[in-house]
Amino acid sequence: MKTITADFEYFSAATAGEALDLLAQHKDDDYRIIAGGQSLNTFMKHGLLKPEIIIDIKGASDLDYIKYDDKEGLKIGALTTHRKLEQSPVVAEKYAALVDMEVNVASVETRNWGTVVGDIVNADPAADPAPPLIALDASVVVASKEGTRSVPAEEFAVDLYTSAVEPGELVTEIQIPALPANTGFYFTKYSQLHGDYALASAAVLLTLDAKKEKCVNARIGLGGVGATPIRATAAEDILKGKKITDELLAEAAQAASEATEPISGIEASAEYKKELAGTLVKRVAKEALARAQKA
Ligand SMILES: Cc1cc2nc3c(=O)[nH]c(=O)nc-3n(C[C@H](O)[C@H](O)[C@H](O)COP(=O)(O)OP(=O)(O)OC[C@H]3O[C@@H](n4cnc5c(N)ncnc54)[C@H](O)[C@@H]3O)c2cc1C
Repeated sequence: MKTITADFEYFSAATAGEALDLLAQHKDDDYRIIAGGQSLNTFMKHGLLKPEIIIDIKGASDLDYIKYDDKEGLKIGALTTHRKLEQSPVVAEKYAALVDMEVNVASVETRNWGTVVGDIVNADPAADPAPPLIALDASVVVASKEGTRSVPAEEFAVDLYTSAVEPGELVTEIQIPALPANTGFYFTKYSQLHGDYALASAAVLLTLDAKKEKCVNARIGLGGVGATPIRATAAEDILKGKKITDELLAEAAQAASEATEPISGIEASAEYKKELAGTLVKRVAKEALARAQKA
C-alpha cells in the first residue's frame, strides 16, 4: 500500500518479503523502517529525523513470533514486542532473567508497541536488551534481497544510535542459543525511577563444570557506560577456569569497571557510572552463580 502525505511517502508491508522488496526499491533513498514507532516517532517529533519515505513493517505478521527448541534455542521474530517477550511462558522457563529485564523497560504502553528488535536497532547504549543478548551469545539475523547475514550481539551496535544495519536491510530475527547444563544467567539495571533508561546495567552468564566447582564459561554485557553496549572480555577471562570466590568476583568487577567509558550526564557523573558498573557486575554475577548452582 502507498500513501502520500505532506511530510513523507508511506508504504506498508504485509510480509517480510514485501518489506524486502520495498527496501530494495528504496535502498538509495532517504527512508526509515517503522515497527512500533516508540523511538522513531520521538526522533521525528523533535525534528532530529525527517525521512522522505517511511516503510511500515508492523503488518508483517510473519515476523511476529517466539519459538524455542532445545537444539536451536530461542528465536525472537522482529515484530515481537517487549510485552510479548515479558509474557512468554517459554522465556520465563528457559531465560527467566529476560522477563526480569522486560518488566523494567519503560511503561506497559511502550512495551505493548515497542519491539525488542526496534530497541536494538535504535542502539541507545542505555537500552536494556543488548547487555543480556551479549551475555547470552545471541546473534541478530539481518536480511536483504541479496541474502542473509548473522551479526553477533556484541557487534550489532557500532556507535551511539547506530546499528550494523545497512541500507536495504531488514532485521528479521534474534537467535539465542539454548543454555548448557549448569548455567546461570542474570541481569539488572540501575535507574533513578522504575522504567527509566539505565544509568548502568549488567548481564552475566556463568556455566559451571559438572561438579559445579569451576567456571567453564563466563559472558558479561554492560549497558549505559559507553557509546555502545560493552562485552567485558577481560572480566570474563578472570572468571573462566577458576572456582568463583568473592575475591575473584571483586577482581572481575574491577576489570569490568575499567572496560567502561561512560560520559557524565544530568543524573550521574562518569566516575559514578564507572563505579556502579563494577558494583552491578559483582551483584549480578553472584546471582548468576547461585542460579548456576541450582540449575
Ligand atoms: C517513554 C519511553 C521510555 C523508554 N524506556 C526504555 C527503557 O527503559 N529501556 C529500553 O530498553 N528502552 C526504552 N525505551 C525504548 C523502547 O524500548 C523503544 O522505543 C522500542 O523498543 C523501539 O521499538 P519500536 O518497534 O517502537 O521501534 P521503532 O521506533 O519503530 O524503530 C526504532 C528504530 O529501529 C529501526 N527498525 C525497527 N525495526 C526494524 C527492523 N526489523 N529492521 C531494521 N530496522 C528496524 C527503525 O528504522 C528505527 O531506526 C523507551 C521508549 C519510550 C518512548
